Amino acid sequence: MGKNSKDKRDLYYRKAKEQGYRARSAFKLLQLNEHFHFLNKDLNRVVDLCAAPGSWSQVLSRKLFEDCDTVDKCNNNKKIVAVDLQPMSPIPNVITLQADITHPKTLAKIMSLFGGEKADFVCSDGAPDVTGLHDLDEYVQQQLILAALQLTTCILRKGGTFVAKIFRGRDIDLLYSQLGMLFDKVLCCKPRSSRGTSVESFVVCLNYNPPADWEPKLDLNCSVQDFFQNLHSDAAASKCFTDIKPDQRYIADFISCGGLNSFDSDATYDNIEENSKSLNPIQMPTNPPYKRALELKKQGKLGKTVV
Ligand code: SAM
Repeated sequence: MGKNSKDKRDLYYRKAKEQGYRARSAFKLLQLNEHFHFLNKDLNRVVDLCAAPGSWSQVLSRKLFEDCDTVDKCNNNKKIVAVDLQPMSPIPNVITLQADITHPKTLAKIMSLFGGEKADFVCSDGAPDVTGLHDLDEYVQQQLILAALQLTTCILRKGGTFVAKIFRGRDIDLLYSQLGMLFDKVLCCKPRSSRGTSVESFVVCLNYNPPADWEPKLDLNCSVQDFFQNLHSDAAASKCFTDIKPDQRYIADFISCGGLNSFDSDATYDNIEENSKSLNPIQMPTNPPYKRALELKKQGKLGKTVV
């Protein structure tokens, strides 16, 4: 998040800087929470997957530790763990882990941070680097969601909540059906701060309730397919997670979050007086991909390779 004319074009980008959030995505979680109120004071253990640069973790920290200005006043059981491949600058009340959510060791690390206790809430705003090859991007995104779901099934307590970013592609009904085998209620939600022109949405999965005879177990040598292999829904024994027939798929209810009086993320608000001055970014990127290029440029070593 830099300092430029985007302040005028994108009100959420501007508001994020005004309110001290590292990214505009903070408003997506806030608007989802406005509707569902899942970030309440009863939450003790929370996991933020794919968390960098950390605006969702900032929201979680502010919500969970709202009234604790001193450590004594805080419930010592509250813990937020944020995981990302990228390093993250520290956030108050958040333990940051630089790790890959697809690796079983990451689950073990989170479990040990929670002292073996399960989490009440898991969220994932994961997005892989896009290649521009639409089918490949959609496939990789799907795999990332399934990886987040795998980890969630191992760490979430019964009755817990899972929120994840999805891209509504061709086979999204398959994912809704799969989630429906694990949670009592699955909803597809679009916060006002998520651009209407984007296929991005969020699944809000309430009341984790896996089949009683299914034991999730993460293992390095086990594929996503193997992991969910023995998961059959109670309601229809013929419904298997890895082989849901087209007629068994369903479309989740769609909910727009954030209210009509909140800002429209596709509109330009350049007539608002206070927008005329650009604000500094809240947090400089810790390890941006252009860092090496800048270093080489300084040393006069940045040149084009002639083939
Ligand atoms: N929710 C974040 C916020 O509010 O600041 C923004 C998340 S950003 C859209 C997506 C993140 O997913 C990136 O930081 C990326 O490094 C992370 N990511 C992608 N694949 C990952 C993986 N396998 N393990 C951990 N993080 C991953």
